Amino acid sequence: MSDCVFCRILAGELPSKMVYRDDRVAAFNDIHPKAPTHVLVIPTRHVTRLSETKEDDREELGYLLERARHVAELLGVSRAFRLEVNNGEEAGQLVPHLHIHILSESQPKN
Ligand code: AMP
Ligand code: ZN
Repeated sequence: MSDCVFCRILAGELPSKMVYRDDRVAAFNDIHPKAPTHVLVIPTRHVTRLSETKEDDREELGYLLERARHVAELLGVSRAFRLEVNNGEEAGQLVPHLHIHILSESQPKN
């Protein structure tokens, strides 16, 4: 069993409100929302942080960002949202599995 919280969510060992999932990317509600819409978009592959990725990961990272765009659209917040990536503990990264925060002052639809 993984000790990574997000890998455990992906494995179904921890609950989550999943809003999008495919074989490479998953998106679920943040457990402590800091805005009316607060969703985390993660690669299904365990990568600790952005600075651990390499040039070879360009396609995966591009896809992750493109899916963040798609998730914002699914949530109906495309007009105004922001993305945040914290890299490293000192920058406020609490969960060592790469994730993009989607934050919007608009309520998600549904
Ligand atoms: P960061 O500070 O960038 O590492 O963000 C980690 C985020 O993960 C925080 O906003 C937490 O609220 C969120 N989080 C931690 N555990 C869970 C969980 N089990 N389900 C959903 N979100 C979580
Ligand atoms: Zn993980």
